[in-house]
Amino acid sequence: MPEGDTVLVAATRLHAALAGDALVRTDLRVPAFATTDLSGSVVLDVVARGKHLLFRTDAGITLHTHFGMDGRWDLVRPAARIGGRTHQIRCVLATERWVAVGRSLRIVEVLPTAGEGRIVGHLGPDVLGPDWDPVEVVRRLTERPERAVGEALIDQRVMAGPGNVYRSEACFLRGIDPRTPVGQIEDVPALVGLMKRLMEANRTTGAQVTTGDPRPGRSRWVYGRGGDGCRRCGTPIRRGEQGDAGSERVTYWCPSCQPGVTGVGSTEPSPAARTGER
Ligand SMILES: [Zn+2]
Repeated sequence: MPEGDTVLVAATRLHAALAGDALVRTDLRVPAFATTDLSGSVVLDVVARGKHLLFRTDAGITLHTHFGMDGRWDLVRPAARIGGRTHQIRCVLATERWVAVGRSLRIVEVLPTAGEGRIVGHLGPDVLGPDWDPVEVVRRLTERPERAVGEALIDQRVMAGPGNVYRSEACFLRGIDPRTPVGQIEDVPALVGLMKRLMEANRTTGAQVTTGDPRPGRSRWVYGRGGDGCRRCGTPIRRGEQGDAGSERVTYWCPSCQPGVTGVGSTEPSPAARTGER
């Protein structure tokens, strides 16, 4: 699932391929912009903001796309045939040197660059961006102390970038039940710092490895492992729903390593939970 690191890797690749060159052909396969033609304009920048990608052109126009649940961008040479399922293609941007093909994107739209604030202005500090500000993120997180931490961690207004994988993994590593109200978490800055470190570790790969072991089936502690044994204690990992962003609701946790707090699960935090990250 694309999260901030995946989006940054895509932005870096697309920027290297397209920036500085004029678009010679564009094809936006969404009804509202089906007749929009950006050819002739030069790509200035391809920028990631959380899970949003912004293609800025010298015409003062920005193409905005959002990855959604399973969007992707491929780069092919102009002479190559565009493979894969053509019905998934939402966007084609061609220069003399490259053809960028966006598939299964949740959002494709064109707007004035000066109006980008409308689509990304609400976002919190970007975990992998130059505007990262952990103090501000802690402030936004704790603004609503009654909210479940697992839900707050993927609210892009709190911080831009994290999704399901990182919120599940960070809560596990801190020994926090994801249903715990933010106000009951002892060390919120440590949790925010951990999110940053986990995503930084995947900045150049987008591989979402949190265990340090990139091998298939070993890269994560709990995410995607519902019913499997916890890597630390063997307890079956639980899978539940949380938050309000479609299929981003699914979260995973170990009921032993991440004991609930009052009114959530068991009544007493275990010593493991009190000592925090292990
Ligand atoms: Zn466990």
